[in-house]
Amino acid sequence: MEKEKKEDCIFCRIARKEIKQEIIEETDNFIAFPDANPRTKGHTLIVSKRHFVNMLDMPASLGNELLDVIKRVAEKRLKEGASGFNVVANNFPVAGQIVMHAHVHVIPRYKKDEFKVREIV
Ligand code: 5GP
Ligand code: ZN
Repeated sequence: MEKEKKEDCIFCRIARKEIKQEIIEETDNFIAFPDANPRTKGHTLIVSKRHFVNMLDMPASLGNELLDVIKRVAEKRLKEGASGFNVVANNFPVAGQIVMHAHVHVIPRYKKDEFKVREIV
């Protein structure tokens, strides 16, 4: 895991700004940036700067800060024209987690988008 953290983990590399990436929001412990494969316009990932594998790994003391970033990203997308948003966190591969570094999806919703929330909840 230490090797993955230092060299290979894509979200660690983005958080360390080793990879050119538009940043939407940044706090002491989180960074928010557009998903490379957006399911709707403005789909944003909120990623912990430290390498936690999933949300169980993340200390609860970061909860307020995470909620604050979620709200800031969502408010920005609403101002840009979204009518609502979904907050999704996939934890462990069976739940669809592909990148094994804790993150939350903020998925803006539009009246006629094609995102099917019923496929995940
Ligand atoms: P998961 O299924 O693990 O919750 O979702 C991982 C998300 O990360 C996917 O939606 C995928 O499109 C996104 N992603 C994977 N690699 C990169 C990357 O290098 N840059 C960005 N911006 N998004 C990525
Ligand atoms: Zn990582």
